[in-house]
Amino acid sequence: MLRIEGICKSFDGFAAIRNVSLEMMAGETHAIIGPNGAGKTTLFNLITGHVQPDRGNVFFNGDPLIKLAPHKIVRLGVARSFQLINVYPRMTTFENVQVALIARDKHTFKWFTLGSCLYQNETREVLELLGLVDEATQMAGELAYGKQKQLELAITLATNPKLLLLDEPTAGMSPGETTAAIRLIQQIRQVRDVTVLFTEHDMRVVFDIADRVSVLHHGEVIASDTPAKIRLHPEVRRVYLGSK
Ligand code: ADP
Ligand code: MG
Repeated sequence: MLRIEGICKSFDGFAAIRNVSLEMMAGETHAIIGPNGAGKTTLFNLITGHVQPDRGNVFFNGDPLIKLAPHKIVRLGVARSFQLINVYPRMTTFENVQVALIARDKHTFKWFTLGSCLYQNETREVLELLGLVDEATQMAGELAYGKQKQLELAITLATNPKLLLLDEPTAGMSPGETTAAIRLIQQIRQVRDVTVLFTEHDMRVVFDIADRVSVLHHGEVIASDTPAKIRLHPEVRRVYLGSK
Protein backbone atom coordinates (compact mmCIF):
# COMPACT_ATOMS: atom_id res chain seq x y z
CA MET A 1 0.00 0.00 0.00
CA LEU A 2 2.78 2.42 0.90
CA ARG A 3 6.30 2.33 -0.48
CA ILE A 4 8.91 4.89 0.54
CA GLU A 5 12.09 4.74 -1.52
CA GLY A 6 15.34 6.37 -0.47
CA ILE A 7 13.79 9.56 0.77
CA CYS A 8 16.03 12.43 2.02
CA LYS A 9 15.19 15.79 3.54
CA SER A 10 17.48 18.49 4.92
CA PHE A 11 16.52 21.73 6.63
CA ASP A 12 19.23 24.39 6.21
CA GLY A 13 21.88 21.74 5.76
CA PHE A 14 20.64 19.62 8.67
CA ALA A 15 19.70 16.13 7.45
CA ALA A 16 16.40 15.37 9.20
CA ILE A 17 15.60 12.30 7.05
CA ARG A 18 18.47 10.27 5.57
CA ASN A 19 17.78 7.78 2.84
CA VAL A 20 14.69 6.24 4.42
CA SER A 21 13.01 3.31 2.69
CA LEU A 22 9.94 1.64 4.12
CA GLU A 23 7.11 -0.60 2.94
CA MET A 24 3.67 -1.14 4.39
CA MET A 25 1.14 -3.79 3.47
CA ALA A 26 -2.60 -3.03 3.40
CA GLY A 27 -4.19 -3.93 6.74
CA GLU A 28 -0.96 -3.54 8.68
CA THR A 29 -0.54 -1.41 11.80
CA HIS A 30 2.97 0.01 11.73
CA ALA A 31 4.65 2.06 14.46
CA ILE A 32 7.48 4.52 13.95
CA ILE A 33 9.46 4.98 17.14
CA GLY A 34 12.55 7.04 17.93
CA PRO A 35 13.69 9.79 20.29
CA ASN A 36 12.55 13.41 20.01
CA GLY A 37 14.01 14.98 16.89
CA ALA A 38 14.56 11.61 15.19
CA GLY A 39 12.48 12.77 12.20
CA LYS A 40 9.14 11.02 12.81
CA THR A 41 6.90 14.03 12.15
CA THR A 42 9.03 15.02 9.15
CA LEU A 43 8.54 11.55 7.69
CA PHE A 44 4.77 11.99 8.06
CA ASN A 45 4.99 15.43 6.45
CA LEU A 46 6.83 13.88 3.50
CA ILE A 47 4.08 11.27 3.04
CA THR A 48 1.22 13.77 3.28
CA GLY A 49 2.76 16.38 0.97
CA HIS A 50 3.31 18.98 3.70
CA VAL A 51 7.07 18.78 3.07
CA GLN A 52 8.79 17.99 -0.25
CA PRO A 53 11.82 15.65 -0.23
CA ASP A 54 15.23 16.53 -1.64
CA ARG A 55 15.47 13.04 -3.07
CA GLY A 56 13.48 9.80 -3.14
CA ASN A 57 9.93 8.71 -3.83
CA VAL A 58 6.71 7.81 -2.05
CA PHE A 59 4.11 5.55 -3.68
CA PHE A 60 0.60 4.91 -2.43
CA ASN A 61 -1.04 1.91 -4.11
CA GLY A 62 1.42 2.47 -6.95
CA ASP A 63 0.64 6.18 -7.38
CA PRO A 64 3.52 8.62 -6.79
CA LEU A 65 2.68 11.11 -4.05
CA ILE A 66 5.69 13.37 -4.49
CA LYS A 67 4.77 16.87 -5.70
CA LEU A 68 1.05 16.30 -5.03
CA ALA A 69 -0.66 18.92 -2.86
CA PRO A 70 -1.78 17.71 0.59
CA HIS A 71 -5.51 17.89 -0.25
CA LYS A 72 -4.97 15.70 -3.32
CA ILE A 73 -3.19 13.12 -1.18
CA VAL A 74 -6.16 13.17 1.22
CA ARG A 75 -8.48 12.46 -1.72
CA LEU A 76 -6.40 9.40 -2.64
CA GLY A 77 -7.21 8.04 0.83
CA VAL A 78 -4.35 9.16 3.09
CA ALA A 79 -5.46 11.02 6.23
CA ARG A 80 -3.56 12.15 9.29
CA SER A 81 -3.99 13.60 12.71
CA PHE A 82 -1.49 16.10 13.99
CA GLN A 83 0.56 16.09 17.18
CA LEU A 84 -1.48 19.04 18.48
CA ILE A 85 -5.24 19.24 18.83
CA ASN A 86 -7.02 20.41 15.72
CA VAL A 87 -10.76 20.91 16.35
CA TYR A 88 -13.14 23.87 16.10
CA PRO A 89 -13.51 24.71 19.80
CA ARG A 90 -16.68 26.80 19.42
CA MET A 91 -18.63 24.20 17.52
CA THR A 92 -20.22 21.14 19.09
CA THR A 93 -18.69 17.68 18.82
CA PHE A 94 -21.48 16.77 16.38
CA GLU A 95 -20.88 19.82 14.18
CA ASN A 96 -17.12 19.21 14.06
CA VAL A 97 -17.67 15.76 12.54
CA GLN A 98 -20.50 16.99 10.31
CA VAL A 99 -18.32 19.75 8.86
CA ALA A 100 -15.57 17.22 8.12
CA LEU A 101 -18.06 15.04 6.23
CA ILE A 102 -19.37 18.02 4.27
CA ALA A 103 -15.82 19.11 3.43
CA ARG A 104 -14.92 15.58 2.33
CA ASP A 105 -17.58 15.71 -0.35
CA LYS A 106 -16.23 19.08 -1.52
CA HIS A 107 -19.23 21.13 -0.49
CA THR A 108 -18.11 24.54 0.63
CA PHE A 109 -18.64 25.97 4.06
CA LYS A 110 -21.54 28.16 2.99
CA TRP A 111 -23.65 25.00 2.76
CA PHE A 112 -23.23 24.58 6.46
CA THR A 113 -25.63 26.33 8.76
CA LEU A 114 -26.21 25.39 12.37
CA GLY A 115 -28.66 22.53 12.65
CA SER A 116 -28.01 21.56 9.04
CA CYS A 117 -29.70 18.30 8.14
CA LEU A 118 -26.79 17.13 5.99
CA TYR A 119 -25.03 13.91 7.01
CA GLN A 120 -26.97 13.45 10.25
CA ASN A 121 -26.82 9.66 10.10
CA GLU A 122 -23.22 9.39 9.02
CA THR A 123 -22.18 11.85 11.70
CA ARG A 124 -23.97 9.77 14.33
CA GLU A 125 -22.25 6.63 13.03
CA VAL A 126 -18.80 8.19 13.36
CA LEU A 127 -19.61 9.47 16.87
CA GLU A 128 -20.76 6.00 17.89
CA LEU A 129 -17.60 4.37 16.58
CA LEU A 130 -15.49 6.90 18.48
CA GLY A 131 -17.45 6.76 21.74
CA LEU A 132 -18.56 10.39 21.52
CA VAL A 133 -22.35 10.07 21.54
CA ASP A 134 -22.76 11.51 25.05
CA GLU A 135 -20.62 14.51 24.08
CA ALA A 136 -22.44 15.23 20.79
CA THR A 137 -23.95 18.54 21.87
CA GLN A 138 -21.00 19.78 23.95
CA MET A 139 -18.72 22.50 22.62
CA ALA A 140 -15.53 20.85 21.39
CA GLY A 141 -13.42 23.36 23.32
CA GLU A 142 -15.03 22.26 26.57
CA LEU A 143 -14.31 18.55 26.18
CA ALA A 144 -11.69 16.83 28.34
CA TYR A 145 -8.31 16.46 26.62
CA GLY A 146 -8.74 12.75 25.88
CA LYS A 147 -12.17 13.36 24.37
CA GLN A 148 -10.80 16.17 22.19
CA LYS A 149 -8.19 13.76 20.84
CA GLN A 150 -11.00 11.26 20.18
CA LEU A 151 -12.90 13.95 18.31
CA GLU A 152 -9.82 14.74 16.28
CA LEU A 153 -9.65 11.09 15.30
CA ALA A 154 -13.35 11.21 14.38
CA ILE A 155 -12.70 14.19 12.10
CA THR A 156 -9.76 12.38 10.49
CA LEU A 157 -11.86 9.24 9.94
CA ALA A 158 -14.64 11.25 8.35
CA THR A 159 -12.60 11.43 5.13
CA ASN A 160 -12.88 7.63 4.99
CA PRO A 161 -9.14 7.03 4.61
CA LYS A 162 -7.46 3.82 3.50
CA LEU A 163 -4.25 4.83 5.24
CA LEU A 164 -4.46 6.63 8.57
CA LEU A 165 -1.39 8.43 9.94
CA LEU A 166 -1.46 9.20 13.66
CA ASP A 167 1.29 11.40 15.09
CA GLU A 168 1.60 10.58 18.80
CA PRO A 169 -2.10 9.81 19.33
CA THR A 170 -1.69 9.40 23.10
CA ALA A 171 0.62 12.40 23.74
CA GLY A 172 -0.36 14.23 26.92
CA MET A 173 -2.98 11.65 27.92
CA SER A 174 -3.49 10.21 31.37
CA PRO A 175 -2.99 6.43 31.71
CA GLY A 176 -6.79 5.97 31.62
CA GLU A 177 -7.14 8.11 28.49
CA THR A 178 -4.26 6.21 26.88
CA THR A 179 -5.95 2.86 27.50
CA ALA A 180 -9.19 4.22 26.04
CA ALA A 181 -7.34 5.54 23.00
CA ILE A 182 -5.63 2.20 22.33
CA ARG A 183 -8.95 0.38 22.58
CA LEU A 184 -10.42 2.88 20.16
CA ILE A 185 -7.67 2.48 17.57
CA GLN A 186 -8.07 -1.30 17.74
CA GLN A 187 -11.83 -0.95 17.35
CA ILE A 188 -11.49 1.36 14.35
CA ARG A 189 -9.23 -1.16 12.67
CA GLN A 190 -11.88 -3.85 13.10
CA VAL A 191 -14.82 -1.78 11.88
CA ARG A 192 -13.15 0.17 9.08
CA ASP A 193 -10.82 -1.34 6.54
CA VAL A 194 -7.98 0.98 7.46
CA THR A 195 -4.20 0.65 7.52
CA VAL A 196 -2.50 2.58 10.32
CA LEU A 197 0.93 4.20 10.55
CA PHE A 198 1.59 5.87 13.89
CA THR A 199 4.37 7.43 15.95
CA GLU A 200 4.36 6.91 19.67
CA HIS A 201 6.46 7.50 22.77
CA ASP A 202 4.63 5.06 25.01
CA MET A 203 6.22 1.62 24.41
CA ARG A 204 3.22 -0.08 26.01
CA VAL A 205 1.02 1.32 23.23
CA VAL A 206 3.54 0.38 20.54
CA PHE A 207 3.90 -3.23 21.64
CA ASP A 208 0.13 -3.55 22.21
CA ILE A 209 -1.09 -2.49 18.80
CA ALA A 210 1.69 -2.59 16.20
CA ASP A 211 2.20 -5.49 13.78
CA ARG A 212 5.53 -3.99 12.76
CA VAL A 213 7.82 -1.38 14.27
CA SER A 214 10.39 0.80 12.52
CA VAL A 215 13.01 2.62 14.57
CA LEU A 216 14.22 6.05 13.45
CA HIS A 217 17.48 7.38 14.83
CA HIS A 218 19.00 10.64 13.57
CA GLY A 219 16.78 10.45 10.50
CA GLU A 220 17.72 6.87 9.60
CA VAL A 221 15.72 3.66 9.92
CA ILE A 222 17.98 1.44 12.02
CA ALA A 223 15.52 -1.45 12.33
CA SER A 224 12.13 -2.51 10.97
CA ASP A 225 10.61 -5.71 12.34
CA THR A 226 7.95 -7.31 14.52
CA PRO A 227 7.53 -5.90 18.05
CA ALA A 228 8.99 -9.09 19.54
CA LYS A 229 12.16 -8.81 17.43
CA ILE A 230 12.46 -5.05 17.98
CA ARG A 231 12.44 -5.59 21.75
CA LEU A 232 15.50 -7.83 21.40
CA HIS A 233 17.31 -5.87 18.67
CA PRO A 234 20.74 -4.96 20.14
CA GLU A 235 21.16 -1.63 18.34
CA VAL A 236 17.63 -0.55 19.19
CA ARG A 237 18.14 -1.44 22.84
CA ARG A 238 21.36 0.53 22.90
CA VAL A 239 20.20 3.74 21.20
CA TYR A 240 16.59 3.83 22.19
CA LEU A 241 15.39 1.54 24.90
CA GLY A 242 18.37 2.67 26.98
CA SER A 243 19.98 -0.66 27.82
CA LYS A 244 23.55 -1.78 27.17
P1 ADP B 1 10.29 13.99 15.78
O1 ADP B 1 8.89 14.09 15.29
O2 ADP B 1 10.88 12.61 15.65
O3 ADP B 1 10.46 14.51 17.17
P2 ADP B 1 10.83 15.99 13.76
O4 ADP B 1 10.55 15.34 12.47
O5 ADP B 1 9.82 16.93 14.30
O6 ADP B 1 11.22 14.88 14.85
O7 ADP B 1 12.19 16.80 13.64
C1 ADP B 1 13.39 16.24 13.11
C2 ADP B 1 14.43 17.32 12.99
O8 ADP B 1 14.11 18.15 11.89
C3 ADP B 1 14.53 18.21 14.21
O9 ADP B 1 15.88 18.51 14.43
C4 ADP B 1 13.73 19.43 13.80
O10 ADP B 1 14.21 20.58 14.46
C5 ADP B 1 13.99 19.49 12.31
N1 ADP B 1 12.87 20.10 11.57
C6 ADP B 1 11.64 19.55 11.39
N2 ADP B 1 10.87 20.35 10.63
C7 ADP B 1 11.62 21.44 10.33
C8 ADP B 1 11.38 22.64 9.56
N3 ADP B 1 10.23 22.86 8.95
N4 ADP B 1 12.39 23.53 9.47
C9 ADP B 1 13.58 23.30 10.07
N5 ADP B 1 13.87 22.21 10.81
C10 ADP B 1 12.90 21.28 10.94
MG1 MG C 1 7.09 14.65 16.21
